[in-house]
Amino acid sequence: MRSFYAYHRYHTRHVAIIGSNNIPRVIADVSESSITEMGQLAALGHIYDPVTDKWSTTDQAAELLYMGASPLPFMVPAGTRQLLDYATWQSHDDQFYCVPMMSVHEYLCASQRHTVMNIVCCSTDELDNHELLVKLHDDATAVLGLTSHHPSYFRDMRSALDVLAARDILCPVILRKGLLATSLDIASLHAATDLGGLLVEGYGDGVMLNVRVNDHIHHDASVRLAFGILQAARTRITKAEYISCPSCGRTLFDLQETTSMIRAQTDHLKGVKIGIMGCIVNGPGEMADADYGYVGSGPDRITLYRGQEIVQRNIPSAGAVGALIDIIRTDGRWIEK
Ligand code: SF4
Repeated sequence: MRSFYAYHRYHTRHVAIIGSNNIPRVIADVSESSITEMGQLAALGHIYDPVTDKWSTTDQAAELLYMGASPLPFMVPAGTRQLLDYATWQSHDDQFYCVPMMSVHEYLCASQRHTVMNIVCCSTDELDNHELLVKLHDDATAVLGLTSHHPSYFRDMRSALDVLAARDILCPVILRKGLLATSLDIASLHAATDLGGLLVEGYGDGVMLNVRVNDHIHHDASVRLAFGILQAARTRITKAEYISCPSCGRTLFDLQETTSMIRAQTDHLKGVKIGIMGCIVNGPGEMADADYGYVGSGPDRITLYRGQEIVQRNIPSAGAVGALIDIIRTDGRWIEK
């Protein structure tokens, strides 16, 4: 019996790098971008150094790159896979490190498949196909790239995922969503509402977003947004976390500006939780599970916390961010950007 009061991730089978106990993967949709040089992958978290001829990855690097019908003209970084449209994959030289993305029809009729991973792109209204469900049930290589065209994406996706669970279909599921919005902020709100809800309920082994703002594709912002949603759902932590109060009449500094300033200097500290609170009356209680606290304690005065313990009391706000960084450094949790 499912509990609605505790987090429970749906069990799926392990397929290559996705599903089971793997962290949820991020898939970058760059099928409409022309990537011809290694340096262009930096926006997706893969940084190439031509001097050493080596790749490095950031904590927010997409592991799967959907290239559509335009494969990359160079080797992808280790641990990364290219996803290609089925017809393109069939004629590609490297059929191991490239993975086919298939429609339902292609999947059911495929004469040739990948030996390890095959991604089936499907919408919720295609899940009434009995043959597809039987095949997904039995296929240890199948990964479902599921999306919904229903006005209520969240509700429709949840119903579909419940159908899969009820039929004991264990293929990993990539939650796909395309967004057309007038701004990145609006796109973020819609994506977070729809995908975040599913993730906190334990669904989803991967996220693939395609954000278009005024008809312009933002593949790098889509990847950042996917990581942000995973972090907010606490299913994949890749950066620092901030808890700030909503602010009220007691707030003793410009909360938004200060939060931005602290974030700009510390957001690379993966797993560190920082509370930024407007006043010392309620702030320490509201940031109860933060690792560090930056709390207004008087006009132009800040008190810094390590957990619930005061480390520096009533210091001038001018040097308070630097002092906070020094405390993090003393604890051995600081890394350079
Ligand atoms: S922490 Fe203080 S300033 Fe912030 S909302 Fe609560 S009472 Fe207001």
